[in-house]
Amino acid sequence: MLIDTFGRVATDLRVSLTDRCNLRCTYCMPEEGLQWLAKPDLLTDDEIVRLIRIAVTHLGIDEVRFTGGEPLLRPGLVSIVERVAALEPRPRMSLTTNGIGLERTATALRDAGLDRVNVSLDTLRPDVFQALTRRKRHDDVLRGLAAARAAGLTPVKVNSVLMPGLNADEAPDLLAWAVENDYELRFIEQMPLDAQHGWKREGMITAGDILASLRTRFELTPEGEGERGSAPAERWLVDGGPHRVGVIASVTRPFCRACDRTRLTADGQVRTCLFATEETDLRAALRSDAPDEELARIWKGAMWGKKAGSGLDDPSFLQPDRPMSSIGG
Ligand code: SAM
Ligand code: SF4
Repeated sequence: MLIDTFGRVATDLRVSLTDRCNLRCTYCMPEEGLQWLAKPDLLTDDEIVRLIRIAVTHLGIDEVRFTGGEPLLRPGLVSIVERVAALEPRPRMSLTTNGIGLERTATALRDAGLDRVNVSLDTLRPDVFQALTRRKRHDDVLRGLAAARAAGLTPVKVNSVLMPGLNADEAPDLLAWAVENDYELRFIEQMPLDAQHGWKREGMITAGDILASLRTRFELTPEGEGERGSAPAERWLVDGGPHRVGVIASVTRPFCRACDRTRLTADGQVRTCLFATEETDLRAALRSDAPDEELARIWKGAMWGKKAGSGLDDPSFLQPDRPMSSIGG
């Protein structure tokens, strides 16, 4: 299994399928986009499936989440899902997406074996969506969400990041809409992972701010107190349930002690943490014909070096060189 020096065991693998994206969320990327990875540097579909097979059969991974960049831009996505679904033991599989194009692919993804999706949507207002993402695609996301629900990729979770001066006042409206549409809403605190290094602790909307804003309209009761486990989201029942809302407070209430993740970038680097400044190159070994056991050994070695925490609370914190879109959020 994948274990570190603090006794944490990774069972949840995040796989980035591409660093490219069709939106330009202000908290993630600059307007002009980024210098994308070159095609030969990207893992091929076969290489991705092989590494996931090793993770599942040799390293105890039981949950795989595909992300990016925008994972729906990866042409081989449906076939990758299908091949991972055929592994023994079969891992649970989910996808984090901005929802653009999901309307067309939700059924094929479900048929291929995908279990769930998380769709990112920060606002109910098309003009604010355009300001936040620099694209006029609000409607596509809403249609993608509805298609995911109709295809049974449930519970459909919605990820929202609140930004000062843009959608900071929208928390209660987003929750009312999510309850009405049977989506499970989770707010994510803005993290210092944007390519432009524009994050400021003073400016960010904290979990405390979000909960205070939600409580102006809803009664929130903590769900399963003390049972957060490795789940990053703290969850509350909305007006007594059954609907819930989550808050992922990576900055103000970090959950590093219970972290159960390992990450694979689209160019085949293992990262033990979003905020890690070091990576372990699996692609080089993969392309020099290393056997499965050798790749598993390298991955275990990377896990053994996992740091205790993100370091966000440390005044000497340094933002990693890779932005969120390239690591795989
Ligand atoms: N493109 C897909 C999407 O947006 O869902 C998948 C990749 S995206 C990097 C994954 C998640 O990270 C999204 O929910 C997005 O809102 C979130 N995210 C991106 N940059 C962030 C930041 N600086 N702080 C917090 N969350 C961020
Ligand atoms: Fe693209 Fe997702 Fe980053 Fe937005 S958050 S720019 S949708 S990768």
